[in-house]
Amino acid sequence: MSYLERFRVRPGARVQLAAIDPSFKDRHEGQDAAAAEIDECRKRLVDLQEMLYVERRRSLLICLQGLDTAGKDGTIKHLLSAMNPQGCTVVPFRQPTAQEEAHDFLWRVHRATPARGEVTIFNRSHYEDVLVVRVHDLVPKSSWSRRFDRINAFEQGLADQGTQILKFFLHISSEEQLARFKARLEDPTKQWKISESDYEERKYWDEYVTAYEEALSRCSTEHAPWFIIPANHKWFRNLAIGRILVEHLEGLKLTYPKPTVDLEHIRREYHAAKHPAGA
Ligand code: AMP
Ligand code: MG
Repeated sequence: MSYLERFRVRPGARVQLAAIDPSFKDRHEGQDAAAAEIDECRKRLVDLQEMLYVERRRSLLICLQGLDTAGKDGTIKHLLSAMNPQGCTVVPFRQPTAQEEAHDFLWRVHRATPARGEVTIFNRSHYEDVLVVRVHDLVPKSSWSRRFDRINAFEQGLADQGTQILKFFLHISSEEQLARFKARLEDPTKQWKISESDYEERKYWDEYVTAYEEALSRCSTEHAPWFIIPANHKWFRNLAIGRILVEHLEGLKLTYPKPTVDLEHIRREYHAAKHPAGA
């Protein structure tokens, strides 16, 4: 089965994260065994992204969501190794600024969406407005509960304009998060990542799971699907997302645009320049 199908949340399905194994690694024994396939995928992505860029008809919006340490930053690093920076942008979403706060929640999101031919990767996204906002009561329930329909309508609008949206939930276990926090504490090159709020947020694990389950269930649509990616193994996460992107982009049947110039004419000019009359 394609990974596009396998990890996709079917529209209308009721997601239960506890039923999905975050340590899943398919038929692969481990990172070394999968390395060749990961690299193959990466190379294929390089070509496909270039075609998307030169075709300039459609665009791709990748949304990354997950609890702290789920691997959003690591995924971005991996994906950027498969993208020409010309044509790919990463946009992080943090706590809204005063100006953003004074606008509709989709204001800052819409302006960050990709132009034709481009790939944009959202590090967090408009989904925070039904996740962190809900878990911490930042706006009343009467407000955030209406956002699922708003999000679906917004994403439908983007899809109508040729923007394909692929949304990835990086699924890790609570034990894996603890292990990653510990690794950060011990590794001087990772200590900068630690914030007080990490441990605070962990206390809200169950609330986040509830919020994610509703978002994944209500907002996985034909035009903007959610994928639940087993992410306890970083290499498998990279492999799965890479494969899904490749499968999706291959399905677009991208083509190089037709030349806008008369090639025969240019060939004749070239020939004439190389062999000047009388030379
Ligand atoms: P990081 O991704 O580690 O840089 O952290 C960004 C922080 O911004 C996280 O704690 C998010 O929960 C928070 N954040 C992102 N979007 C929103 C939002 N719409 N409302 C409130 N907090 C947000
Ligand atoms: Mg982060």
